[in-house]
Amino acid sequence: MADTDFSTLPLPPHVLANLQQLGYERMTPVQAATLPLALAGKDLIAQAKTGSGKTAAFALPLLANLNPRRFAVQGLVLCPTRELAEQVAQELRRLARAEDNIKIVTLTGGVPLRMQMASLAHGAHAVVGTPGRVLDHLGRESFALDALATLVLDEADRMLDMGFAEEIARVIALCPKERQTLLFSATYPEGVAQLAAKFMREPQSVTLAERHAASKIRQRFYEVTESERLHAVGLLLNHYRPASTLAFCNTKQQCRDLVAVLQTQGFAALELHGDLEQRDRDQVLVQFANRSCSVLVATDVAARGLDIANLEAVINVDITPDAQVHTHRVGRTGRADEAGWAFSLASLDEMGRVGRIDEMQGGDSVWHKLAELTPARAEPLRPPMVTLQILGGRKEKIRPGDVLGALTKDLGLAFEQVGKINVNDFSTYVAVERSVADQALRGLNAGRVKGKSVKVRAL
Ligand code: ADP
Ligand code: MG
Repeated sequence: MADTDFSTLPLPPHVLANLQQLGYERMTPVQAATLPLALAGKDLIAQAKTGSGKTAAFALPLLANLNPRRFAVQGLVLCPTRELAEQVAQELRRLARAEDNIKIVTLTGGVPLRMQMASLAHGAHAVVGTPGRVLDHLGRESFALDALATLVLDEADRMLDMGFAEEIARVIALCPKERQTLLFSATYPEGVAQLAAKFMREPQSVTLAERHAASKIRQRFYEVTESERLHAVGLLLNHYRPASTLAFCNTKQQCRDLVAVLQTQGFAALELHGDLEQRDRDQVLVQFANRSCSVLVATDVAARGLDIANLEAVINVDITPDAQVHTHRVGRTGRADEAGWAFSLASLDEMGRVGRIDEMQGGDSVWHKLAELTPARAEPLRPPMVTLQILGGRKEKIRPGDVLGALTKDLGLAFEQVGKINVNDFSTYVAVERSVADQALRGLNAGRVKGKSVKVRAL
């Protein structure tokens, strides 16, 4: 029996069976390193990159510590954003399926307090939420933490980046002293170490060094002057023609400038920044994930926690001063078995930073010249899909099947010409192939979805 088998863990048979049903055949490295300690009740600090399976690493101990027959909040997970809280709650529910009737409530902004108070009133076993909103509820005594057995700080580094230190401390002050605390983080800055020292009991540390399979991610550095830097991004895109690229800048201003330059050059580029309203952020992410936006431009803070499959390229528009952050950026591409490109633009002033990256990656960086970048084809890079926004969503009882039906049955599109369909509360987004976008737009505006005429626009 391999030591990455879930069956080596002290988990009951119905939990193991559920894991198997979920297709979890072996533990991921971070799970294999943390679960034996966490299931033995130890406090834990775990550091591993995005997509490494950290959620199950804290969800399984949290669920193991919980008594389903006790109607009180016994597990609390603090997350930096609404999206992440929802992802965590979803995974917790999937893993809790083995147990009957475990109730998990999400508490984040964007939903009226009163609705959340009503779900808490029905009794919750675990709460997943953002620090601000959780504190809000604790202040109103919508729920209490007296019975808390497990506290999880997920993406602790990002919560601190977002200025939640104060709120986190206040929530922890309301937790019982006797409890298990699990802290997960993609990076381990000083602030996280301080947080751990203050609130954890003899925590064990688990760090999974990030190593990229060298063959999967091809890294190339380009020397640029400041005046060439933003222009070089377009050269890279037209030369390598990646369908989806995440471009990292060190500052928000640089993000803004780059998006302006790319849009002027005719690229489908969008900016992801912290000041976006949740709805606009959702819309940007939908467009990037459904392949109707070629380039997403972001700072490290804005991009942290995003889990985007099929990223063909990462561009470091600026070199980050932190070599670990560089490794983290680059690790966003080349997921699963796909190959990925990582391009870095470095000015002479940034060579010291490149040196530290080289040292950390244990290799010499590969340099190429901007002059080699020639457009691979005459036409500019265009995303394969176009997003159509239907004004109407869950509130109008629209389901993905209704939209797919309208496009394929009524308008005669082929299934393959329809991409992702995202139904939100008030809007529905559907990606269609660029070549049929006009036809689909006209057809949907003239026809019906779910028996009703709808307003549709192309984004
Ligand atoms: P992280 O929090 O480290 O970014 P997640 O917990 O979100 O990563 O996991 C990433 C994905 O991997 C999820 O879709 C999750 O369902 C899946 N996953 C986690 N553990 C396993 C496993 N042992 N076997 C197969 N898939 C897994
Ligand atoms: Mg996570």
